[in-house]
Amino acid sequence: MERVDVAIVGAGAAGLSLAHRLDRMLPGRSVVMVETPETGLRPPERTWCFWEKAAGEWDAAVNHRWHALSVVGPDGTAWRSHLHPLVYKMVRSRDFEALVRSGLRKTRTLRWTVTDIVDGPDGAVLRLRGAEGAERELAAGLVFDSRPLPELPADGVTLLQHFRGWFVRTDRPRFDASAAVLMDLRVPQPERGVAFGYVLPFDARTALVEYTEFTRAVLDDEGYDAALRDYTGRLLELGVFTVTGTEQGVIPMTSARLPARVGRRVFRIGAAGGATRPATGYTFSGVQRQTRQIAAALAAGRLPVRCPAHRGRHLFMDAVLLRGLDDGVVDGAEFFATLFRNNSLPRLLRFLDGKTTPLEEVAIGTRTPVASMSAALWAQIRAARHRGGSMRR
Ligand SMILES: Cc1cc2nc3c(=O)[nH]c(=O)nc-3n(C[C@H](O)[C@H](O)[C@H](O)COP(=O)(O)OP(=O)(O)OC[C@H]3O[C@@H](n4cnc5c(N)ncnc54)[C@H](O)[C@@H]3O)c2cc1C
Repeated sequence: MERVDVAIVGAGAAGLSLAHRLDRMLPGRSVVMVETPETGLRPPERTWCFWEKAAGEWDAAVNHRWHALSVVGPDGTAWRSHLHPLVYKMVRSRDFEALVRSGLRKTRTLRWTVTDIVDGPDGAVLRLRGAEGAERELAAGLVFDSRPLPELPADGVTLLQHFRGWFVRTDRPRFDASAAVLMDLRVPQPERGVAFGYVLPFDARTALVEYTEFTRAVLDDEGYDAALRDYTGRLLELGVFTVTGTEQGVIPMTSARLPARVGRRVFRIGAAGGATRPATGYTFSGVQRQTRQIAAALAAGRLPVRCPAHRGRHLFMDAVLLRGLDDGVVDGAEFFATLFRNNSLPRLLRFLDGKTTPLEEVAIGTRTPVASMSAALWAQIRAARHRGGSMRR
């Protein structure tokens, strides 16, 4: 059986980011990525947006960047903010993959499907399925597994961030390409949760226009298309346009803890390993923080036992918000409108990246709808106590 030092399962955002780092930081170790060739298991191409200071390590793959963002409240009031010193960047998954792969010096990719991972004291064995029923095994000193979880843990609140976007080309100039619209809260709101439009304008006539909900259940095709027709027609008044492509997805937003270490030698990474920020669904930056820490730990000869993408206090705050949205005590549209109206956007973005101080976080907290967030806080504390109580019984 072939044995490698490190096996990375999956070549998505997390697998590729980790491979990129280990390839540079562990030159003497053997690293392989095991990526399924089965189209049913591979995620469709997608765009990843994130923010960071002007220059970043993935700039060669950045397809578009915006220096300002805007938010539109339920009543149509718009707030626009420059992000300086941050920049909002968009990377297409295929460009990201091409960039990472072109820089890998020694990391190989095995095109096999992982069917099982058997943990052991000094390593783990991956069971692999190939074309036409072929089977083989691979031994690895450490395994980093980014396969999506078959189901989320039952504790905590889980909402789905689900969306469909149209890449559109309008017949006349309709977009202000200097700012992306992070949340347009004018769309009809669900009873619980929140719904909003999201616009990434590439120039005056082309954009990715999305309809998104944070709710418990996804819509059917007609539901997304009707919402997008309403948004592009009644609210954005795009007039005549052509849909040149679509993007659709579901990102689980959960307050359940997703453990990164799941065996003596097996770790989860990426969305499966808790890299998604529960209150927003943004994952790409969390993946970068997580994989940077893992690579640094391994380079220092340590097991990567604590490499969190997010701080505990931020996860708690997000849990409160998810609880409030799910219970219906927080009016989602009002919450986000107040948050963006009353806080500086660069500070909010730093908060979402876990880079604010506790004092700044208190300031942000007092500039949200305090009464409903307090109700959500109590609901979250009661739920945690109840869980503690039932676990003790
Ligand atoms: C449409 C869409 C848009 C998004 N946009 C953003 C965004 O703008 N910003 C942001 O921060 N986040 C965004 N996200 C959330 C998040 O960044 C992505 O979901 C991201 O792809 C997660 O990366 P990952 O590596 O954890 O998982 P994935 O990208 O899903 O990678 C998992 C990998 O495992 C492989 N695999 C699966 N099963 C097996 C198996 N049995 N054996 C071997 N390999 C296997 C898959 O082929 C895949 O390559 C978006 C999500 C979606 C769905």
